[in-house]
Amino acid sequence: MSYTRKDIIEMLSFTKEDDLGRLRDEALSLMGKEVGNLVYYRGIIEFSNICRCDCRYCGIRKSNSKLSERYTLERNEIVDTALWCADQGYGSIVLQSGERVDPAFISFVESVVAEIKERSRSEKLPKGLGITLGIGEQSRETYRRLYEAGAHRYLLRIETTDPALYRRLHPKNQTLENRIECLGDLKEVGFQVGTGVMIGIPGQTLDMLARDIEFFRDRDIDMIGMGPYITHPHGDMASEGMMEKEALLQLSLNMIAATRLVLRDVNIAATTALQALVPDGRERGLGYGANVTMPNLTPIKVRKGYQLYEGKPCLDESGTACGSCLLNRIRSVGRDVGFNLWGDSPHVNKRKVLIGNRG
Ligand code: SF4
Repeated sequence: MSYTRKDIIEMLSFTKEDDLGRLRDEALSLMGKEVGNLVYYRGIIEFSNICRCDCRYCGIRKSNSKLSERYTLERNEIVDTALWCADQGYGSIVLQSGERVDPAFISFVESVVAEIKERSRSEKLPKGLGITLGIGEQSRETYRRLYEAGAHRYLLRIETTDPALYRRLHPKNQTLENRIECLGDLKEVGFQVGTGVMIGIPGQTLDMLARDIEFFRDRDIDMIGMGPYITHPHGDMASEGMMEKEALLQLSLNMIAATRLVLRDVNIAATTALQALVPDGRERGLGYGANVTMPNLTPIKVRKGYQLYEGKPCLDESGTACGSCLLNRIRSVGRDVGFNLWGDSPHVNKRKVLIGNRG
C-alpha cells in the first residue's frame, strides 16, 4: 500500500485511543511480516564529546563553555567495551562521537574499527561485530577509509529536511545541502545508511514531518533513528521551549508507526530519548513498530559528559545492568532479542542482491 502526504499527516495527528490502537496494530503487523519480531541490540559507545560543530540545540556543541569536561576514551577502553559487547551476544555496536575531521582523529577511529573487527571474530560471530559509526560529516575519502577498515553502517541524522528550519537549528557553515551530499557519499561508498529527525522542534509542522518520512523513502534510507526534541539548558534554543511531554511522546510514537508503514522493511530504533520522556518510552517505541534499541555502554565515568539533551536516562547503570534491564523491558512487551546477529534489515539484504554481497 502506498501512502500520500495527506495520509501520513493524518497518522501523525492521531490522539484518540481507537485511532492509535489501529495504527499500532497495522505497524506491528507489517513489522512482523517485513522484518520479524526480534529486537536487535546496538551497544552504543559514545567515545568522545569533542565536537567542531555548533548545532544550536545540542548540549555538547563546541561553544557550550559550561560543559565541564571534554573527553576522548582511550583506545583500549573502546576496544575492551566492544569486546565485552561481543561476549554478551550483542551482534553490533555503534561508535559515536562529536564531529572532528583532523587526520589524527580519523586515523584513530580507523584503527580502532579495524582492531575491533579483527578481535571480535569468534565462532558465534564469524564476521566479527557489526560496526556502525556516527561521527558526523566527513569527506567521501574518509568514509571510504572507515568502510574499508570494517565499519558497515553509518548514522548521520538530518534532524529536519525543511530548509528554513534547518537554518534555524544550525550556524551558517552547517548546511542542509552538505548533509544531504554526505548521505549520498555514504551510500556510494557502500555503507548501510541511517538517518533521522528530531520531532517537535519549535516551528516544525506535521507537513514537515511527513516530508521527512518521504525523504527517508525517496533516499532509500536503510535505518531510522528519530527522537523527540528535548531542550538542553546549555543549548542555544532552551528559551524557545519544547512541546508538552505527553503530546511529544505521542507524536514521536506516531512518527515511528508512520515511518514503519511507509518504509516497511527498514530498521527503526526505539531511541533512548523516548525514555527521557517516560520510563517505558523505549518499550512504547517497540510497540509502534521499532525493532532496534541501543544499550548505552559508554563508561560511567564519562557518561554524564555526553548529553545532547536534558534528562538522558541510565547515566549511572553499568553495561551489565543496562543490558539485563533492557532485556526484561523487551520481554515485558512480548518481544525477544536477536543475540549474536548483526540484524541488518531486509531492506539492505534486498539491495545486496542487486549490488553484490560485501559480507
Ligand atoms: S548535534 Fe552532533 S554535530 Fe551537532 S553539536 Fe552536537 S555532537 Fe556536534
